[in-house]
Amino acid sequence: MSYVGPDFDPPQPRRSRRRALTVALAALVPGALLGWVLYEAVGDPGDGDASGNAAVRPSAAPTNTAPTISATNDDKPPGPTPTASDSDSLKGKVVVIDPGHNPNNFQHTSEINRKVNIGTNWKECDTTGTSTNDGYTEAEFTLDVAHRLRTLLRQQGATVKFTQDNDRSWGPCVDERAEIGNKAHADAVVSIHADGASAGQRGFHVILPGKVNAGAANTGPIVTPSRDLGERIAGSFVRATGSAPSNYVGDGTGLVTREDLGGLNLSTVPKVFIECGNMRDSKDAALLTSGAWRQKAARGISEGIVSFLRG
Ligand code: ZN
Repeated sequence: MSYVGPDFDPPQPRRSRRRALTVALAALVPGALLGWVLYEAVGDPGDGDASGNAAVRPSAAPTNTAPTISATNDDKPPGPTPTASDSDSLKGKVVVIDPGHNPNNFQHTSEINRKVNIGTNWKECDTTGTSTNDGYTEAEFTLDVAHRLRTLLRQQGATVKFTQDNDRSWGPCVDERAEIGNKAHADAVVSIHADGASAGQRGFHVILPGKVNAGAANTGPIVTPSRDLGERIAGSFVRATGSAPSNYVGDGTGLVTREDLGGLNLSTVPKVFIECGNMRDSKDAALLTSGAWRQKAARGISEGIVSFLRG
């Protein structure tokens, strides 16, 4: 299925030189993620820039298929297990979790196809999301990870709110999803997704808000803190899951900046999306459908949020 919606990442031009990219990223990408970048730069001579287009890279590219890199490139131990002393470390902090899509959207296509204003343009209210080839839906996935994430964050004392919990017949629309985070005065918002890309395209990526200022969209104040949040989540996601950053967007960083997502454009509080993997790739699907792996994913996201909120 060719999925076109908020999760669809249009082809992005590759930057010109790997070496320059690596140097630039060294200044931007912390921790384990930098390890991935360096691994990519030196460990994959076949990954040149000839393709000119990340979206059409060969599906068999070996770059991001090694699952154990975090164990060798990351000198930090696995993430901390919450202890009694952690139980109130996030007291007073508000985290909004946005489980992408809604399991009931499939029955309400006319409602979710309604266009809403996202400042820069008009987009569908919401989308159905994708699914694995075996029919495990993205909406089920996002809710499951959201529940696991909520448990972990509450163990740290955070106040956690959802934009939806399969408790409404469709949506909410992307503008309302943003508004929920804004009205909650959230200290951090994470929108959870899994992608619907082509087979062979693997790995996770975190989507950061680009700078937009049009209509109701003004992301200027949140671009920098959102990047901080996103980088921390990307790093902790690598550590917790052992998954590689996307091999089809983000040039191996696991970070993608977008200016076309209403949920980001309309946010006034730090917010990122995470695409935890590609549901249309069989290897990624095997992870996404595993409860044990989803727990690791939730832990990775949680640790990034905790790190961000502790500063
Ligand atoms: Zn999605």
